[in-house]
Amino acid sequence: MRSESLQIPNFIDGQFVEPVGRKYLDNIEPATGKPYSQVADSDARDVDLAVAAADKAFVGWSKKPAAERSKILLGIADLIERDLEKLARAESIDTGKPLSLARSLDIPRAASNFRFFATAILHTESEAHITDNVAFNYTLRQPRGIAGLISPWNLPLYLLSWKIAPAIAVGNTSVAKPSELTPMTAYLLCEIACEAGLPNGVLNVVHGTGPNVGGAITAHPKVNTISFTGGTVTGREVAEACAPLFKKVSLELGGKNPNIIFADADLDAAIAGSVRSSFANQGQVCLCGSRVFVERIAYNDFIHRFVDKASKLKLGDPLDEKTEQGAIVNKTQLDKVKFYVDLAQKEGGEIALGGKSPEAINERCRDGYFFPPTIITGLPVSCRTNREEIFGPVVTITPFDSEEEVIGYANDTDYGLASSVWTQNLNRAHRVAEKIHTGTVWVNCWLVRDLRVPFGGMKASGVGREGGTEALHFFTEAKNICIAK
Ligand code: NAD
Repeated sequence: MRSESLQIPNFIDGQFVEPVGRKYLDNIEPATGKPYSQVADSDARDVDLAVAAADKAFVGWSKKPAAERSKILLGIADLIERDLEKLARAESIDTGKPLSLARSLDIPRAASNFRFFATAILHTESEAHITDNVAFNYTLRQPRGIAGLISPWNLPLYLLSWKIAPAIAVGNTSVAKPSELTPMTAYLLCEIACEAGLPNGVLNVVHGTGPNVGGAITAHPKVNTISFTGGTVTGREVAEACAPLFKKVSLELGGKNPNIIFADADLDAAIAGSVRSSFANQGQVCLCGSRVFVERIAYNDFIHRFVDKASKLKLGDPLDEKTEQGAIVNKTQLDKVKFYVDLAQKEGGEIALGGKSPEAINERCRDGYFFPPTIITGLPVSCRTNREEIFGPVVTITPFDSEEEVIGYANDTDYGLASSVWTQNLNRAHRVAEKIHTGTVWVNCWLVRDLRVPFGGMKASGVGREGGTEALHFFTEAKNICIAK
């Protein structure tokens, strides 16, 4: 691993550079609670430099044939795969997630993101419309210019590459801002981009806090496209900053996702899937199913087996190969989780599993931010614990009696990101899926991701869609050319 005193610099115009103000923030390892590196604490001056570099690079990059851009992106994907172990370890240390998860999910997915969009741009089509006897129309989809790409801490490289890859694949240049809590793999990606021969200025990464760097990106008049993933409150600020400048904006925000288990489900599969969807990455995946609804006749059996299986998840040092539950990303997030567990009890909930900080994991992790899988029963559907995003290893379980009732429960939230439905009745699966207000409905599965499908949320979970054609369209401007006959 790198030296402990590493200062993560910005990456502007193909060079690693110090922030103009020469200030750095501590980068803390969640498993130990101690700083292990520092990250640039940049401001609007650094964003100005990054935008100038992106602006300069745009003409050359956008004019490059798709096949040449594709080749460079494929090179990045290959290098991510070559460096899988190094990147997975860096992601695990930076976020607290189990090394095994970073190795099997985060880093392979980052490579897939680049490979997917590198090849997608070779297979695009353009629409043509013939206006009878009058004209012929065709659609040009051109890169928009400079894309501002802002991402959160829970899946750092996975989500940042999900934005960078489509943005630059179609010919834009970019200014990216990873979360200040988890900057390490974005830094390593810049090394990879250089090695892959990405021209200077196509990807610029500016590190620092949300208000100082994210705010400067959303306010910059030359950044006309903003792709943001993060919390709903921040999403509102981003939308407010972008609206007066008429920026094109995509917002992927929070969730409070329902996970519905009908009594006719394959309970073994539903329980295994629900343990994953509840506690993967310590519940810090925007798609985690934090509200579990179980049909009353299967309720007792489900709870018994679900609690039993969740209790066997191995909480431990994220770098230990056997660990299934790592650390929470920082103290603020850990305190938020504890706050909601207390609130749930005040609201009448009973703790069926977890609920208290664990014993010290080991000497190295004595001061780390750990919290065990926690299952709460007996809460009313409309209470705060059931309505507000916790974003930690905490789920509630509620019984229901009818399809209609559970659809009402599922939709009784401001959010609308994703849901899961477990049933063996095909007609019911279609009926329920159609009525749930979420951007994704998984039936008898969770987190199955095909990169071609539209991805995004309804209501307070976001605006716009990522993935496949949606992303290619988002990062381009459609222009109709009408030629008279
Ligand atoms: P956050 O909103 O605090 O931060 C997200 C990013 O925005 C960070 O890089 C942050 O520095 C930056 N930021 C903060 N203030 C800003 C501002 N005023 N202007 C511009 N940028 C600003 O979110 P987080 O705590 O990092 O991530 C957790 C949240 O992200 C959860 O709510 C989770 O549900 C959501 N999330 C959503 C998806 C999705 O696809 N819908 C995926 C992952 C995470």
